[in-house]
Amino acid sequence: MRCRRCGEKAEIYLKRHNTAFCNNCFQVYYSEQVRRNIRRYKMFRPSDRVLVVVSGGKDSMALWHILLKEGYNVTGMYINLGICGYSDRSQEVVEQFSQKYNAPLIVKNIEKDYGFSIPILAREIRRSTCSICGTIKRYIFNKVALDGGFDVVATGHNLDDEAATLLGNVLSWQEGYLARQAPVLPSTHPKLVKKVKPLFTLTERENLAYIIFNGISFIHEECPHALGASSIFYKEILNKLEEESPGTKQRFLTNFYKKGRKCFAKYSEPVKLRECKICGQVTTAEICSFCRLRQMAEKKMKADSLLQEGENH
Ligand code: SF4
Ligand SMILES: [Zn+2]
Ligand SMILES: [Zn+2]
Repeated sequence: MRCRRCGEKAEIYLKRHNTAFCNNCFQVYYSEQVRRNIRRYKMFRPSDRVLVVVSGGKDSMALWHILLKEGYNVTGMYINLGICGYSDRSQEVVEQFSQKYNAPLIVKNIEKDYGFSIPILAREIRRSTCSICGTIKRYIFNKVALDGGFDVVATGHNLDDEAATLLGNVLSWQEGYLARQAPVLPSTHPKLVKKVKPLFTLTERENLAYIIFNGISFIHEECPHALGASSIFYKEILNKLEEESPGTKQRFLTNFYKKGRKCFAKYSEPVKLRECKICGQVTTAEICSFCRLRQMAEKKMKADSLLQEGENH
């Protein structure tokens, strides 16, 4: 098979575009997609300071690399979630990238910075690890971006992620989530930083190809808590549809943005935002969910130490 652009031997076939590219032309295609998304959705300007959330996985590492290559003012941010082995291995990958490309990096560590562990807290308060992790990550992205004077937070969500989220939201008719799902989440409060997803038109496979063609290291394993997540199941279903009818995923998502999303706009009533009484971050309640989690962790630690003291006497 020949490359559509230059006629050389092709190295990747993109079924949904019924086209094939050599390594170089694939990189041109990839860069054009990212540039077009940033421009068309007004994600950020060349002078903006961009905080890229990196997990060590292929998507976020591809995003970090392409934004640096395109000359944007980018800083990586990694959060060590304290997930046995996985977190330390992914941190190593991210730090090595930062050194290799001389790329600025901010590292946060939940246990060291805040004194509690996500998996232990989840067990103690009987909530899912992913829901606690999501709350904490959203809080930290925003706080680091705000404190550091960044204009925007960019994440590596890809076409497969976004189509699976959309399918999940449609299956249970989550009107509020459908109204808010978008490649750009604008800032709705001076203390809330804008969030963008520059890779939302690129598939997992395309991000993997970009990573391999550029020799970028990434962590191959998934977070152990992702096992059994419904998003994985939705991705499998969408992959089956895609096999039968190439382009289904992209049509599903982009037509939702073009035609479907506006039907849910009325469910996106602006909520009253205020500042958390404890930390000052934006919340809808008196105390933000992060501070409430922190309080629960502290209460639990206090109770454990009293118990320990009792046992020692
Ligand atoms: S799978 Fe769950 S616990 Fe793991 S990083 Fe994602 S949200 Fe966090
Ligand atoms: Zn070519
Ligand atoms: Zn707070």
